[in-house]
Amino acid sequence: MSLRTRLTLLYTTLVGGTLLFFGLAIYHLVSLTITEQIDHILEQTARNLIGTIRVNALGELDVLAEADLSAGVYIQLWERNRGLRYSSSSISSLSEPLDPLAEYTSQPITHDVNLGNAHLRVMSVPLSIGSRPIGTLQVATSLAIVDATQQTFLKILVIGTTIAVTIAATGVSFVTYRSLAPLESVTQTALQITRADDLSRRIPYQGPTDDEIGQLISAFNQTLSRLENLFYTQRRFVADVGHELRTPLTVIKGNITLMRKIGCSDEESLSSIDEEVDRLTRMVGDLLLLAQAESGKLTLVTQLVELDTLLLEVMQQSRVLAQGKVDLRLGEIDQVLVCGDRDRLKQVLINLISNAIKYTPQGGEVVMGVGKNNDQAYITVQDNGPGISTEELPHIFERFYRIEKSRTRSADGKGFGLGLSIAYWIVKHHDGEITVESEEGKGTRFCVWLPLAVGDCQPES
Ligand code: ADP
Repeated sequence: MSLRTRLTLLYTTLVGGTLLFFGLAIYHLVSLTITEQIDHILEQTARNLIGTIRVNALGELDVLAEADLSAGVYIQLWERNRGLRYSSSSISSLSEPLDPLAEYTSQPITHDVNLGNAHLRVMSVPLSIGSRPIGTLQVATSLAIVDATQQTFLKILVIGTTIAVTIAATGVSFVTYRSLAPLESVTQTALQITRADDLSRRIPYQGPTDDEIGQLISAFNQTLSRLENLFYTQRRFVADVGHELRTPLTVIKGNITLMRKIGCSDEESLSSIDEEVDRLTRMVGDLLLLAQAESGKLTLVTQLVELDTLLLEVMQQSRVLAQGKVDLRLGEIDQVLVCGDRDRLKQVLINLISNAIKYTPQGGEVVMGVGKNNDQAYITVQDNGPGISTEELPHIFERFYRIEKSRTRSADGKGFGLGLSIAYWIVKHHDGEITVESEEGKGTRFCVWLPLAVGDCQPES
């Protein structure tokens, strides 16, 4: 059963049920009130009449004065052993008791009685002298008006409920159709995406964006954008990995072919193969690290880290790398403590400093510094190299992103375009941030921001 049918059924059942419930409750309440009013009139009449009844010298019951009866009220006076003693003029021909079941009742009782075609309300009041019962007074009135009122009320209730249920069913069916129509387009778009394998499609929606359907469609479209992005990134990643693997594999294959040709192992070819295998191993290691970091599974061995000591250590090691090509200098240095994984943070510094050395031409200068600002620690790595253009700057933290010039410049074959991505993720896992400022022809300044340590370090969960 469709959602639309279910909603329509549910709503109409609720509307119909509620109307019927309250209608019937009012019907019974009105009937009860009218009956109470009638009983009150009958009781009043009986009381008045009892005052006019006497026992004569013969011991018989007599009605002294003809009662002043309101229209539609009937009376019978029944005496034990002697039968009917008095009846009001309008029913003088009736020899049966108005209420046969209460002809000689011992206590006042009221019944609804069907007498011929008439529907009557009859009150029977026992009469006695001392404790000796002598007869019964029966006072009755017609219930024709009450019956007619009840029937009209019931008709109105049934017709009204039917009309209300029909209107509710039509209205709900229309509204749910209108409201659920966009869901149909969600389904169609989802099917088209599956069939055409086209993640660039989006669900068009003109309605309000803050209702449930609007939110659903917006969430669905956002999911599609994210999927498209992931799909694109994954494709690009596979292409990039393929591209990066091709060069070392070609070199290895070439050297093996050469050695086969000359019939012996050549030392130069072997070291070239060795270098390429190292390069591949490094790339696989970097990719695994990135995969862990991106999936949030990078485990950090957190401890208190003195950033100034760490920077001096990396600077010392980097001197070998610089080989006098660039001047490595220490700028601002402050004692700074952060909570973090020492080895991972060291990796970030190595990546930034080795990039600065790699891309700064002979005779250039790389200045490093460490300091703090409010509750943040920062490490800066600044060079006066070629700089990065504003178009390229937003992409340098992407996997395998390398600026064209760098591809040729790093012909030493060491860079894969993964170093900054790794640095970005490591810093992100430390709740920090890497910023970069660069001006073409003037140089680049990377700044790593990390939260200062507060008290002891909590190990990563
Ligand atoms: P790579 O392994 O190619 O160095 P990275 O991810 O470390 O990869 O860097 C991405 C790109 O950013 C590099 O290819 C280079 O073009 C650019 N880059 C990084 N650091 C610098 C820098 N200090 N000066 C100029 N360009 C840089």
